[in-house]
Amino acid sequence: MAKKLLKIILSILAKTAVIWLPILVIIIICYIAFLVIFAIPRQAAEDITIDAKDRVAAFFGFSKDEEFYEDNKELFEDYKEIASEWSDGLSDDQIQQAKVHEFSWAILASVDRLIHDPLMNDAMDEIDIDPENVFDDLKPNFEFKDSVIYVEEEIWKQEERTIEVEVTTTDENGNEVMEIQEKIIKEWVLEIDKKTEDVELITKAETIEGTFIYEYKQTEEVMHIPSPNPNVETQKKIIKKEILTKVQYPAEYYEPFILYLNEQGITHPSDIELVLELATAYDTNYDLNLTYLRNFDYSSYPRFVGENEWLWVTPSTRVTSPYGPRDDEFHLALDIGAVNQGIAGDPIWAMEDGTVTRAEESSGSYGTIIYIKHYNDQIETRYAHLDTLAVSKGDKVKKGDLIGTMGNTGRSTAAHLHFEIRQDGKALNPAYFFPF
Ligand SMILES: [Zn+2]
Repeated sequence: MAKKLLKIILSILAKTAVIWLPILVIIIICYIAFLVIFAIPRQAAEDITIDAKDRVAAFFGFSKDEEFYEDNKELFEDYKEIASEWSDGLSDDQIQQAKVHEFSWAILASVDRLIHDPLMNDAMDEIDIDPENVFDDLKPNFEFKDSVIYVEEEIWKQEERTIEVEVTTTDENGNEVMEIQEKIIKEWVLEIDKKTEDVELITKAETIEGTFIYEYKQTEEVMHIPSPNPNVETQKKIIKKEILTKVQYPAEYYEPFILYLNEQGITHPSDIELVLELATAYDTNYDLNLTYLRNFDYSSYPRFVGENEWLWVTPSTRVTSPYGPRDDEFHLALDIGAVNQGIAGDPIWAMEDGTVTRAEESSGSYGTIIYIKHYNDQIETRYAHLDTLAVSKGDKVKKGDLIGTMGNTGRSTAAHLHFEIRQDGKALNPAYFFPF
């Protein structure tokens, strides 16, 4: 009897499979999706025994392996594109100064996800991402002031001048005749060349980390450069400009950020921590900028712009070893010491737009290195003994982009940058372009 009943049920199920099977499949798929998107990541995120990157990856429902990243590139790229608008409306010069406060796409992505995730925020019942509005709420704001760089330079020049001289000659009759002749002579003339350049200096940055106040003082630098005039040893160059003396950091980092998240109903410290972990795990630039903001002495700001508008590549201008013969070798570079002597981590910036042709961690004599080709490969810059890399081979970089940090890798005894400029392979003296 029971067997018969089972048979009937089975035959009914078989005949109606067209109806219930798809429904069952949909229910199972929905359940799996729920697990993958919300339940598992939440659980994983709360499990403090796994490492930070796993947690944030789980939070996003992402695997941290490369392949998965490739699959989700579009989503990452959307966030990157919106976050890159942080510098809209700023001039190139302003961007260079504000770059360290660059808005992190990973902060944008994680905050957007966090406040619009129904499990995080009970007020909503579905994910409705809204990166533009999150960006408007969190993007940094900057203030700048006008300043003038004044350069007064003595230049000894050789000038040709025509003078009239009396010459005594003898005519055909043997008589002495006085005659006026024109003669060109060369003489040394001192010219005073005066130039002014209007610049804008960053004075304030309001960011999710807090408010940073930049302080400056007026300076006057007098340089004595060898003179071409054999009778005068040196010619003088005076540069008057404001230089950065101090940055006031926020007393409590992330105060504005935490306040914002609280307003959005996100109050649990571990959720806030998660966002920051995500940002630093996924966005290397953000991590480096943060380290820079926290440890940096800005005494050599604003950055030095040399010949060809090339941008000096690190805040320090302290030459520890010049270009030229050294012991039994020829040093093809300028070595630049860290701002805080011996302390690694100073930012290294690309001198000019270009393409990274080499970026490797190495224990060879150069240590960790970056090569960048500029202007159709004619010019190459090399940055050696680095601590960390922020770019990879093949990356396109813009002038002033953070490419890595100063270190002490390879044949090096203290944190410094070995910086080379090469033209068609031949090393040039960087001091020619950046005369510190
Ligand atoms: Zn060197």
